Amino acid sequence: MKKDSKIYIAGHTGMVGSAIVRKLEREGYSNLISRTSKELDLINQQSVINFFEEEKPEYLFLAAAKVGGIEANNKYRADFLYQNLMIQNNVIHQSYVHGVKKLLFLASSCIYPKLAPQPIKETYLLTGELEFTNEPYSIAKIAGVKMCENYKRQYGCDFISVMPTNLYGPNDNYDLETAHVLPALLRKFHEAKIENNKTVEVWGSGKPKREFLHVDDLADACFHLIQTYHGNTCLNIGTGKDISIKELAELISEIVGYNGEIVWDKAKPDGTPRKLLDVSLIHGLGWKHRIELEEGILEVYKEKYLS
Ligand code: GDP
Repeated sequence: MKKDSKIYIAGHTGMVGSAIVRKLEREGYSNLISRTSKELDLINQQSVINFFEEEKPEYLFLAAAKVGGIEANNKYRADFLYQNLMIQNNVIHQSYVHGVKKLLFLASSCIYPKLAPQPIKETYLLTGELEFTNEPYSIAKIAGVKMCENYKRQYGCDFISVMPTNLYGPNDNYDLETAHVLPALLRKFHEAKIENNKTVEVWGSGKPKREFLHVDDLADACFHLIQTYHGNTCLNIGTGKDISIKELAELISEIVGYNGEIVWDKAKPDGTPRKLLDVSLIHGLGWKHRIELEEGILEVYKEKYLS
C-alpha cells in the first residue's frame, strides 16, 4: 500500500470506519475515498457498480454495516440480515470485478457458536448453534467471511477478514435502545450522577462476561494486517482479557463518580454467557493491543461528557 494508493473506507462515519480513517491519515495516506450513506446506498447493487466504475479503489476497508446492541439485533432481525448481506455482497463482488488489490472485511466475535469453549479460537467458527438474539447479524457476517475466503480460493483475490471483539471508542452509539453495553452504561451512570438519581438500571444478571477493545487499537490491527496478512483465516482481534458485566458496571460507575445503587433488570436478556477471544494468532503476527480498559473508558468518558 503506497501513501498515494486509492483507499476506500466503506462506513467511514461509523465508529470503526472513522478510526481507520484517523489511523490512515496519521500514517500519511492521502488518497482516501469515502461516501456517506446518502451519497451511496451500498444496499443498491447498481449504485455500487457505478461507484466502483467511477472510483476504481485499489484498497478497501469494509466497515459499513448495520450494527447495534442486543435489543436492536433482536428487534430488527430481518433488517440486520438483509442489509448486511446486501452491503457485503455488493462491495465484495464489485471489489473482485474491479480488481481491488486488497480488501479487509470487518466481521464480529458474535459469529462464533453461543457455547463455544473459551477462549475462542478461530477454528471454532461453524462448530455449534449461534446465540438467538444476534443470529441474523451473525449469519450475514459469516457469509461475508466466507465470501472473502472463497473469492480467494476461486479467483485468487487477496481478501481478508477480521473478527473484532466488543468495541468502544469515539463515535460510538449512545442511543439507549440500540447501544452496546459500554456506551449505554457510560450514559446511564453519567446522567444519573448529573440528575442525582439514586438508582441506575442495568440489564440482565450481570454475570455474562465480555472482552472490550478500544477502536483505535482495532484500527491499528487492521492497518497492520492489510499490509502483512494474506491468509485465509478470519483473525480474532481482542485483548485476550474479559470482565463480567457486573464488574464493568462497577468500573464505569467509579470512573463517572456515581454513588447510587445499581439495579439489575432481569427481564432483559443476558445474551451469550461469555465470549473471550483467543488472540494468539494475531499476537504471533506481531500485533498486540495498547489501550487498557480503564484508561480507554476514562478517555472516552472525558471526550464524550467532560469536554
Ligand atoms: P452483546 O455483547 O452482543 O450481548 O451485546 P450488548 O453489548 O448489547 O450486551 C452485553 C451484555 O450487557 C448483555 O448481557 C446485556 O444484557 C448487558 N447489559 C447491561 N446493561 C445494558 C445496557 O444498558 N445496554 C446494553 N446494550 N446491554 C446491557
